[in-house]
Amino acid sequence: MSPSKTTNNQGGNKVTDLPQVKLPAVITVKQLAIELDIEPVRVIKQLMRHGIMANVNQIIDYDTAAEITSEFGYTAKHKITSRVASPHEIQKKKNLSTRPPVVTAMGHVDHGKTTLLDAIRKTHVTAHEAGEITQHIGAYQATINGRKITFLDTPGHEAFTAMRAHGANVTDIVVLVIAADDGIMPQTIEAINHAKAAGVPIVVAINKIDKPNANVDMVKKGLNSLGLTIEEWGGDIICVPLSAKEEQGISDLLENLFLVADILELKANPKQPATGVVIEAQLSKNKGPLATLLVQNGTLEKGNVVVAGNTWGKIKAMFNDHGDQIKKAGPSTPVEVLGMNGIPTAGNTFSIVSSEHIARDMMESRATSTTAPMSLTSLSSQISKEQVKEITVILKTDVQGSIEPIKTSIEKSSTEKTRVNIIHAASGNITESDVLLASASGGIIIGFNARPTPGAQQMADKEGVSIHHYDIIYKLVEDIEKTLKGILEPTYIEVIIGQAEVRAVYTSGKKNKVAGIYVKEGKMLRDAQARVLHQGKVIYQSKVSSLKRFKEDVKEVSTGFECGIGIEGLNDFQVGDIIEIYKQEKAT
Ligand code: GDP
Repeated sequence: MSPSKTTNNQGGNKVTDLPQVKLPAVITVKQLAIELDIEPVRVIKQLMRHGIMANVNQIIDYDTAAEITSEFGYTAKHKITSRVASPHEIQKKKNLSTRPPVVTAMGHVDHGKTTLLDAIRKTHVTAHEAGEITQHIGAYQATINGRKITFLDTPGHEAFTAMRAHGANVTDIVVLVIAADDGIMPQTIEAINHAKAAGVPIVVAINKIDKPNANVDMVKKGLNSLGLTIEEWGGDIICVPLSAKEEQGISDLLENLFLVADILELKANPKQPATGVVIEAQLSKNKGPLATLLVQNGTLEKGNVVVAGNTWGKIKAMFNDHGDQIKKAGPSTPVEVLGMNGIPTAGNTFSIVSSEHIARDMMESRATSTTAPMSLTSLSSQISKEQVKEITVILKTDVQGSIEPIKTSIEKSSTEKTRVNIIHAASGNITESDVLLASASGGIIIGFNARPTPGAQQMADKEGVSIHHYDIIYKLVEDIEKTLKGILEPTYIEVIIGQAEVRAVYTSGKKNKVAGIYVKEGKMLRDAQARVLHQGKVIYQSKVSSLKRFKEDVKEVSTGFECGIGIEGLNDFQVGDIIEIYKQEKAT
């Protein structure tokens, strides 16, 4: 297999066009050699340089494999592996057995996700004694007719997509909770798009049917209009009306989840060392780091040496969701482990290594990698080399009415060889959830008169997601068309340097106004470009004309400080307005 299937621009700020290799959470040395198209002995030698003694059948984790991959001149990217068997597993197919499905609840706020998870816990988690409360460890297992099902305890698509952005696809089925008295709401649509982007099947729980104004039909029709046709109308979307509060219809939902699980044929090999994902982690005052791990494949055992992200540890003790000490945990089991040397990040994949010595060496050789944004220009250069067939876009607009015309124009730009795939389009600010979705899906964000929230901008910088701003439709469509044709010349993109809030307005000189501001994010710069936002909308764009602290002219003012600012040509500041400083940078 040749590794040069796709390229990306990771590994620095320049477009490097390194060939990309997609790697699973764990891989054997042999399989990695096949992926890199080289002799296994070369991989073994390279591992030795890192102090890792491995044979061809040894399993190494993603971070190690990624490092080796980069040393052979390729860029590694996470292959999302949920139901995909690891190479080791393929070799031992005969050991495969059915594993419980892992389920996440999603939906609009207040539609009843938490109540539903609690109801399932109450009705289908066998407590040892009457009144015993199960532990909250981030996930729990319910049992129905002797079959198990694992629920992740953090509902919502943000947590789900944050995990995907870290390379982990833990969820097999999404339960989309829709309140029958409220119908489809913005976060319902967001949840649908996040689940679709991950390729995870949806089962709809129409909740709150006990309410007098419940309208199940309205929900079904709403789903239909979103392209999710329910079973009774000839589609494949299972809908279960229920009341989480009255604990009605819960068994029906669980049975349907098993039905979908059976179709998915979820398998794992309990006979191999465990691999899986960190669900959550915290520092306990008495016990030290506590991590909840979800075993996805293999069996985790007390005494195993676990490596997860930049942390590792020998498991001193292991607890199930009842708080019982256990010695072994098979596929799809969530467990809390004691013994890690630090707090791993939720979404980190974990694997088992054969000794503490190897774990220590792996930590030493793990360098933090940075990701450069996937921008229109770099996509264009990849398209011209025929390496990208699809551009994944998240579109945010200021008003609902702009979505359809922009979507239609963008989609029309698709050519025979390349396609624009808009995986989510909505009105409103660009949020952290949008950035996570872009990161997890290798997409870009297009903001049409839509601004990122400060948190979203920060996250985009960290995750390497590029946000493109437009205020004219034809310019946006033109750029997309050029990108698709693979001829987009480098352009200048906007980089936000800082944001400040106007706290007071003063008169300076005869009639000029300056704003007393507080720098909330980044910094303020003299001579930089600036815009003023009133109630989230841009009302003025110009340059900084003066920047002063205690009457002294200054070059810059950092976060947390107050200063006075003048904007060229503007005399109409209002308290509460936001001043945004930005610069144009050549897009990579
Ligand atoms: P979440 O934000 O989606 O997690 O929603 P919650 O589970 O917190 O529920 C929001 C509100 O709806 C709470 O006041 C619940 O008591 C109520 N609720 C949840 N499920 C039902 C239901 O089946 N029937 C009724 N009448 N109320 C419900």
